[in-house]
Amino acid sequence: MSESLGDVKIPLDLGTRLRVLDRLSQIPQTLNEYGTLLQERIKKNLEEPSSRAHFQEIFKGKKIFGHVNYKTRHKVQLSGKRQVYVACALDALVEGFFQPIKIDSACFHCSEPVQVKMSKGIVNSIEPSSCVIWLGASKVGEGQLETYLCPYINFFSSAEHVAEWRAKNPNELGMTLTLNQCLELARKGYWEAVRPSLTET
Ligand SMILES: [Zn+2]
Repeated sequence: MSESLGDVKIPLDLGTRLRVLDRLSQIPQTLNEYGTLLQERIKKNLEEPSSRAHFQEIFKGKKIFGHVNYKTRHKVQLSGKRQVYVACALDALVEGFFQPIKIDSACFHCSEPVQVKMSKGIVNSIEPSSCVIWLGASKVGEGQLETYLCPYINFFSSAEHVAEWRAKNPNELGMTLTLNQCLELARKGYWEAVRPSLTET
């Protein structure tokens, strides 16, 4: 399925920032390449014992991918009613590969609620069905993803709302992904990096 990502070009200015912030080995030119480069980096991270232990806890459901201790637009509800905030829309979707979740977020343009239910990396329901994800990044600065990348990755209730928001914010850096493209990126970049490594031990 991820070959569909291969045709989707990443604008050079966005790709340049993703390389710096995600510490990739090269500038991703397509979403497929971005997935491959993320996977490469995470596999490398998994060689460090502390990072491996962290992902192992996520794999076992003891930790939540992208969990942060401050309020964000993205709340993830786990099956046991526990609710946590995650740093960005993509993090929320990645967690949906590890355990069944309900994501409560809001359109970045009009604040209309966005709700996604998923389990095993498959979306069971989505409201509104027109919802898309804006994959953006800060234009300058380097450091914590929570500061320079995550706040720029958000749900929008529709592609039209991205267009309206961009008309008012013409200098924002980024691109629109469909929910399926974002899921494939989560699968390729994160899930396929983590799962084989942790199930073999
Ligand atoms: Zn909206």
